[in-house]
Amino acid sequence: GLSGIEGKVVAITGASSGIGAATARTLASSGAIVVLGARRSERLTELVDELNAAGGHAIGLQTDVTRADDLVALVRAATDQTGRLDVLVSNAGVARVAPVADLDVEAWNAMIDTNLRGVLNGVAAALPVFRAQGRGHLVTVVSTSGLKIVPNQAVYAATKNAVRTFLEALRQESTDGVLRTTSISPGYVVTELNDWIPDPELRARAQESMRSIGIPADAVARAIAFAIAQPDSVEIGDITIRPTVQG
Ligand code: NDP
Repeated sequence: GLSGIEGKVVAITGASSGIGAATARTLASSGAIVVLGARRSERLTELVDELNAAGGHAIGLQTDVTRADDLVALVRAATDQTGRLDVLVSNAGVARVAPVADLDVEAWNAMIDTNLRGVLNGVAAALPVFRAQGRGHLVTVVSTSGLKIVPNQAVYAATKNAVRTFLEALRQESTDGVLRTTSISPGYVVTELNDWIPDPELRARAQESMRSIGIPADAVARAIAFAIAQPDSVEIGDITIRPTVQG
């Protein structure tokens, strides 16, 4: 495992699949204590059992990031078990992409509530703990969709850029050395993300792009682990990680 991870207490949202689950595996196998949140509790339980059976330290708690109380409970699960929280990985996200003209307001709200409000809920829950400890690290999983603007991703990209903007402001407010902030921008990664796109044709196309050029979630997990492994005085601000062949 990577040095600098051992013994760290890391809470991860959206840990039931994809990048979150891969990050849990990578960190747990390097000796981190992982506290895993997502809505699908059976999937979480399976992962927690797998990690603990392999000699890791994992706990799971059903968490809906759109609910502020759930994030408070996730952070408390970490502090109750271990006395602290070193890192929050705000990874939970949804991509219900569609043309704006579809006016799928329900999908817009789901993306705003999960991708943006979900991150803010995590910050509200974790920051008091980080401040009390005098140290903490906030990692957010945003997207190259926020960097290269393309059709059909208007609201998705807007939420990802909102998080990136928020994190940069938070970074500038946090130069007392207590808080490290990292934003990870993945390109195509093979996960379940596109399985929830409402329109069947758009969904099939997105799934095909992901399948044909996507990199494994494990690659993103290693980038997250790299940022976490740095000494407290070193902040990895932005990591962009995409398939070599992605335009
Ligand atoms: P997955 O769909 O595999 O994972 C998404 C995770 O988020 C699941 O564990 C899901 O768990 C969780 N989640 C969704 N809504 C909520 C909620 N309200 N509360 C708690 N957890 C929630 O996709 P990825 O692994 O790809 O997605 C992880 C992150 O990576 C997202 O933020 C996504 O935007 C970002 N990303 C992904 C890219 C890709 O190509 N795959 C590219 C760029 C960014 P559950 O349903 O159990 O709650």
